Amino acid sequence: MKKPILLSTPHMSTRELDFVKEAFATNWIAPVGPHVDAFESEFCQVTGAGHAAAVSSGTAAIHLALRLLGVGLGDEVFCSTLTFAATANPIAYQGAKPVFIDSDRTTWNMNPDLLREALEKKAQIGKLPKAVILVHLYGQSADIEPILAACNEYDVPLIEDAAEALGATYKGQSPGTFGTIGIYSFNGNKIITTSGGGMLVSDNPELVARARFLATQARDSAPHYQHSQIGFNYRLSNVLAGIGRGQLQVLGDRVAARRRNYEVYAKELGDLPGVEFMPEANFGTSTRWLTCLTIDSEAFGCDREQIRLALAEQQIETRPVWKPLHMQPVFAECEFIGGEVGADLFTSGLCLPSGSNLTDEELERVIIGFIDIHNSNK
Ligand SMILES: *Cc1c(COP(=O)(O)O)cnc(C)c1O
Repeated sequence: MKKPILLSTPHMSTRELDFVKEAFATNWIAPVGPHVDAFESEFCQVTGAGHAAAVSSGTAAIHLALRLLGVGLGDEVFCSTLTFAATANPIAYQGAKPVFIDSDRTTWNMNPDLLREALEKKAQIGKLPKAVILVHLYGQSADIEPILAACNEYDVPLIEDAAEALGATYKGQSPGTFGTIGIYSFNGNKIITTSGGGMLVSDNPELVARARFLATQARDSAPHYQHSQIGFNYRLSNVLAGIGRGQLQVLGDRVAARRRNYEVYAKELGDLPGVEFMPEANFGTSTRWLTCLTIDSEAFGCDREQIRLALAEQQIETRPVWKPLHMQPVFAECEFIGGEVGADLFTSGLCLPSGSNLTDEELERVIIGFIDIHNSNK
């Protein structure tokens, strides 16, 4: 039986364990402590963010962002449709309604023209959204400038979901640092991980201070436990922040390794008929968190799902591209603005094993497996 090759697995370096040991040695085994503070400030240095609050997950960071922006019952929030459900679930936590926006074919991310048209229409009926959540998918930044310009024109705050795009650039700057609030994830499958964790960033220090307050049960300053608002238990553990500090030191290496995976795949598979890799927009650098491609089944000889299943038989894990949220049963009633771009990418799109710790032998197994499927379906 062959060893399984997984999509994206944790990849520790040498420093993480030192930081964890330090947490044990000093007994900072709590959702507060020196690693949490250092992780936040080091994260700001790496991304150029103004201020940062370390939290228990990317999902928690999105939830806090919506709370900070006053999203509540019956409000609408615009949201990229081609993404993981965690982007939109916190909209529902707040009793608000997502309005999903389709992708642009060249970036796979939110189409700026659709956003602008939708804002214009909503302005006409006096029902502007309370916020826009923009996702930077698979390590590639969305085209932020026109999106931010549209948001600014209608005075709607922008939340950037950069969970998959830590280490990427947009015109030389980190996606996640352009909007009112940005969020990142350190889940086990992301480019760097704390096993579970997230970060909320903003240039506005008051928003970040309020995020920390809400994330620690909204305790008023009083010697007794006093609360005048509903809070959450969303802070990151000091132990996990230690892992994050070690991971942050090798972020550049992790980006380089994932980009190399893509380059090897593109070189070896890019000329097969019907195979097209996710394009890299010219405004920045993608991390290629996951290497994604689309399959034209007529040209290739079989469809995306047949490829996925055939690779699975060889213990190679691949995944379809995210199923757009407007197609998810749980969001079936929600408004959707756009056409078939996200739906087409879902139907034809496949994510290949992309971990920064993949060996050359593993890459070769995926490549040979993929070429074999093509040859046997010609
Ligand atoms: C992983 C992910 C999240 C959620 O992050 P968690 O840390 O797992 O809660 C949100 N949005 C996107 C696009 C993601 O990929």
